[in-house]
Amino acid sequence: MKKVLVLEDETNIRSFVVINLKRAGYETIEAGTGEEALEQLRRNPDVSVALLDIMLPDMDGFEVCRRIRAGGNNRIGIIMLTARTQEMDKVTGLMTGADDYVTKPFSPAELTARIDALCRRTGGSSDPAPDAGEISQPPFLLNTRNRTLEKNGQRVKLTQVEYSIVKLFMDNAGKALSREEILDAVWGKDYFGEVKIVDVNIRRLRIKIEDDPQNPTYITTVWGYGYKWGF
Ligand code: CA
Repeated sequence: MKKVLVLEDETNIRSFVVINLKRAGYETIEAGTGEEALEQLRRNPDVSVALLDIMLPDMDGFEVCRRIRAGGNNRIGIIMLTARTQEMDKVTGLMTGADDYVTKPFSPAELTARIDALCRRTGGSSDPAPDAGEISQPPFLLNTRNRTLEKNGQRVKLTQVEYSIVKLFMDNAGKALSREEILDAVWGKDYFGEVKIVDVNIRRLRIKIEDDPQNPTYITTVWGYGYKWGF
């Protein structure tokens, strides 16, 4: 059974989420503060997905997310729970390590669909058999067995979603991919969210892999369409 951490300080929202996740077949772990969530994750390294509320009593959800990733946990899927009143540009700009966001109020069906999709993308053993080997496109080397990326022999720490994007790009080197194609391939056709999540992840990837993220040369923008991997 997949474990989901629910970090939300408002107990009525948290119980609502927990009840629905249990009904959908997930095991849940609860936390009401950022510190509690980090402690729970230390005790439960097998958590597949973390739902992080943003407004919390001790620190904000972005900080929790940052600390999870800084601790080296790139395998876990992270979904931010955002309020409609929060400015989305600010939210996406701050989403330094999150894979997705869900805006409150959300329906249980929407939330579980997002978690299911994220579990499929990040859930090692439930993936189809990984094609063994490496894709070498200097200066990059993608190891498809370990799902790791190196640039000039140095490991680049990627989230599972970022890895999937790089793999998609490398499989389609030199070809312009529309944002919708990227969304379908990486997030799945049943993804509920906005195509903007593609841009959020590309922006983050550029910071990790480009020599100069302001003037990207590996992931180039195809205006009004999408992105292209090619150099
Ligand atoms: Ca809150």
